[in-house]
Amino acid sequence: MFDFYQVTDLLTPEEREIQKAARKFLEAECLPYIAEWWEKAEFPTHLIKKFGEMGFLGPSLPPEYGGQGASAATYGLISYELERIDSGLRSFCSVQSSLVMYPIWAYGSEEQKRAYLPRLASGELVGCFGLTEPDGGSDPDGNMKTRARKDGGDYVLSGTKMWITNGNLAHLAVVWAKDEEGEVRGFIVPTDSKGFRANKIQHKASLRASVTSELVLEEVRVPASAMLPGVKGLKGPLSCLTQARYGIAWGALGALEAVYTEALEFAQSRTTFGAPIASRQLVQEKLVRMAANHTKGLLLAWRLAQLKDAGKLKPAQVSLAKRDNVRAALNGARAAREILGGSGITLEYHSIRHMLNLETVDTYEGTHDIHTLILGREFTGHNALGESAKKAALSLR
Ligand SMILES: Cc1cc2nc3c(=O)[nH]c(=O)nc-3n(C[C@H](O)[C@H](O)[C@H](O)COP(=O)(O)OP(=O)(O)OC[C@H]3O[C@@H](n4cnc5c(N)ncnc54)[C@H](O)[C@@H]3O)c2cc1C
Repeated sequence: MFDFYQVTDLLTPEEREIQKAARKFLEAECLPYIAEWWEKAEFPTHLIKKFGEMGFLGPSLPPEYGGQGASAATYGLISYELERIDSGLRSFCSVQSSLVMYPIWAYGSEEQKRAYLPRLASGELVGCFGLTEPDGGSDPDGNMKTRARKDGGDYVLSGTKMWITNGNLAHLAVVWAKDEEGEVRGFIVPTDSKGFRANKIQHKASLRASVTSELVLEEVRVPASAMLPGVKGLKGPLSCLTQARYGIAWGALGALEAVYTEALEFAQSRTTFGAPIASRQLVQEKLVRMAANHTKGLLLAWRLAQLKDAGKLKPAQVSLAKRDNVRAALNGARAAREILGGSGITLEYHSIRHMLNLETVDTYEGTHDIHTLILGREFTGHNALGESAKKAALSLR
């Protein structure tokens, strides 16, 4: 790992080993093929069970539910290594671990945990997380039209979810819907339920090695036991997003390392006007900016891991790391692409793929600007998100 401030020294030997093993596996199984998968808009489904064997799915959960009780840093390092290859691979694992397994573990009944978690950890089952709707993702409360109507011992779900990662791969969807009292509730919905449809979103110019879908629920009937009993209100989905955003704060740095090392190698060997471009001040400025941002971001991520394990993590702290690390990676990828010159526009190099992927990462899980406003509210006490964000503000604390 590119590690200018020796953060690796702060990791446990076990954490270092897991990172090393993840890097070795991903370099052998994914790096040589990723450009092709991306170009063909394919997710490597043949690797899902291998991801399970490698412990990439729900590593922080206790062993009784298929996890390894791994530290927060371990989860972060796995995200880092996955995204060093491609944000789509990290997205698959983030959704499975933080957005599907986490809510079942944190809010599910014992029966739900035993039925789903070990099979999700092994990759036998794939899940997706349906929060965003076509009218907008930044205000999930105000824009939520999906409804859950009680009917005898069942709930009947109707609505549409948009931009759902893993939607067409999933065996189960964690769907957030409003009940008759207007409370947000989570439901585990088998994707082969009558009235459930997933439509793959085509023509993406970003995150192409990841499946993104629209979910349509037309009077989908599930038993009341499909509801997550342990949470009510927007804090359910928001708490899951905090877990995923934490992993993204690490993951983005993996992408930043990939583009930095690619640009550095290219700059050392590319000669113009009698000297390598790496010797030019303008090129060095770009490389230094990438390396400095990576170094600062890694310190943020490492500290966040300590706070998470100590149970002291605040969602606004995660907002800062997600916002700044992703934007640093996106700007780094743009600079790397520039250093690569014309070669930088082809998929033979990785920088443009990372650059395009990071446009999504900058947007999902709370856009850059939404995190700015969350932090603005945190620091000033004034809510600039908008009137109806007050409820969400309360549940974030
Ligand atoms: C590839 C991909 C995968 C995704 N995967 C999932 C998934 O698995 N599950 C899921 O539920 N969702 C998923 N999403 C959805 C994602 O979280 C949303 O796209 C994101 O929250 C933004 O919502 P939106 O696209 O509707 O934009 P909008 O909310 O409509 O925002 C549009 C613009 O307005 C700005 N804006 C909004 N409100 C304000 C304000 N108050 N002040 C200033 N500016 C504002 C935003 O910053 C943004 O620039 C995914 C998205 C993508 C692109």
